[in-house]
Amino acid sequence: MLRTTLRALAAILMLALLAPGTLAAQAPDAIRYTLRFPAPHTHYVEVEAVYPTGRQPAIEIYMAVWTPGSYLVREYERNVEGVAATADGRSLAVEKSRKNRWKVTTGGATSVTVRYRVYSREMTVRNNWVESGFAMLNGAPTFLTLVDRTPRPHEVRVELPAAWKSVATALMPIAGTPNAYRAEDFDTLVDSPIIAGSPVTREFTVAGKKHVLVLEGDPSLFDADKAVADVEKIVQASGKVMGDYAYPHYYFLNMVVDTGGGLEHKNSFLTMSSRFTTRNRRSYDGWLSLVAHEYFHNWNVKRLRPVELGPFDYETENYVKMLWVAEGFTDYYADVLVRRANLSSAEEYLDALSGQIESVQTRPGRLVTPVNMASYDTWIKQYRPDENTANTTIDYYPKGAVIAFLLDAKIRKATNGTRTLDDGMKIAMQRFGGPKGYSPEQFYDLMSEVAGVNLKPFFAQAAESTDELDYTEALDYFGLRFRPADPATSRAFLGAITRNDSGRLIVTGLRRGTAAIDGGLNVDDEILAIDDVRVRADGLAARLEQYKAGDKVQLLVARRDRLTRLDVTLGSDPGRPWRLEPRTDATAEQKARVIQWLGQ
Ligand SMILES: [Zn+2]
Repeated sequence: MLRTTLRALAAILMLALLAPGTLAAQAPDAIRYTLRFPAPHTHYVEVEAVYPTGRQPAIEIYMAVWTPGSYLVREYERNVEGVAATADGRSLAVEKSRKNRWKVTTGGATSVTVRYRVYSREMTVRNNWVESGFAMLNGAPTFLTLVDRTPRPHEVRVELPAAWKSVATALMPIAGTPNAYRAEDFDTLVDSPIIAGSPVTREFTVAGKKHVLVLEGDPSLFDADKAVADVEKIVQASGKVMGDYAYPHYYFLNMVVDTGGGLEHKNSFLTMSSRFTTRNRRSYDGWLSLVAHEYFHNWNVKRLRPVELGPFDYETENYVKMLWVAEGFTDYYADVLVRRANLSSAEEYLDALSGQIESVQTRPGRLVTPVNMASYDTWIKQYRPDENTANTTIDYYPKGAVIAFLLDAKIRKATNGTRTLDDGMKIAMQRFGGPKGYSPEQFYDLMSEVAGVNLKPFFAQAAESTDELDYTEALDYFGLRFRPADPATSRAFLGAITRNDSGRLIVTGLRRGTAAIDGGLNVDDEILAIDDVRVRADGLAARLEQYKAGDKVQLLVARRDRLTRLDVTLGSDPGRPWRLEPRTDATAEQKARVIQWLGQ
């Protein structure tokens, strides 16, 4: 603007008068970050950030306290140190103004440079890790941004240590500058994890879009070729459900670091897995399901979201009641998509769904908290479980997945198989996709419209009450049943969850309605003996086999080292009554419905 001639200025003013907003359309100045790793083995990333000041006497910058998709205030600012500012070579005063904010006096400068270090040693998908060979950085725990919240571009340049080869991120590269990227706003920066190091990568193209599988950590035992072929099948199967691939490109960022977890982003995901993932069928199935889950989120929650989930306030909790759709429906589709991609059998699929049902039906908290309120309270419960959590609240992942299954069957039945939940999700995407978002009522109305029947009573019961779910209709539609209980199971059941703590048998959890809790056992009790015969740490199950339901026994426990005797009446082993199987007398019509649902 400094070199603008008077005539040009007049023209701009004229335009502004004719079309209000024209001047505002001019993009605000970008914040420019440079990331350096002078001593990566000490787990620090050094950040240099240049902020435009708008000629204000002071600017205020902040770090997010949480990151979308993982609903807990995590206080990322605790890892920030050495915040210092300069302008034109002069030091500027920096004052901490909140737990996660800093105020910088500008001395009238048009831009100020702030340097700080971030300690990066938490190997989770929502935080940072830096070590000698690589860095895994998330936006929320790394970048201080301006408090003023003016939407503005955020640019990042990564200076790689000599031994590191490349950067992988879904951020858009800046042409002509190596390892430099531009996010159109802070949300995009937060939503785009960055891997720097020497990752193994594999690419494929679907619908003209580039897809990149990125493996960092120790991928030496990870079969990248097999994995990328199967990931492509999941992408194809997902597109058949949701229609368009709306991203410019997609990065599957997988850290091979022998821990677990996954977090969705708009144009990428970040997952963690074992180095043996592709060598073991069970763990590989688990990984494919995780891939399908996080990938499906690029629609469900990233582009089709509950209205409360954006724009985000990164400094406080954002309350939302629909995570049972955002997470639960995604979990339902994860296993469905792995099956439809022919990466699991129908039997394996039914096992996975049975696991979800069992998880809901064996959790006493399902009778205490409706799933929409479990979503609302995610900030204080879902991410802060303790020994009593299962008694007081429901997990919205499996309950949401089971509701999706029941809903899918309902829509199919009501429309005689001409419509499915896939149609519901696709139409929801068209109607509420992007910044619009949906309210619970809009979601219920839309699904009712797709089914051609009023589903509000179903949602009110399944999602907004603690009533038991009714499986009859869905099972009947698909010709399924719960495997009948073994008639010989009158085995005794105590109901304490225990662990072997260096040879000591310690109670770690107690479920409501079991002999253990009714008989007075406490969490942290050490079980020493039953009827005065010693129980070894790994011998509880074998000992209980010596009894039958209804037997009265005396437990000897140590509670804070004081020996205590408890009289307990053993219950009966509930067995596993929630395992699905096809009915042997299923009709051809029912079998055809399963094929329509899960593929051949
Ligand atoms: Zn998820």
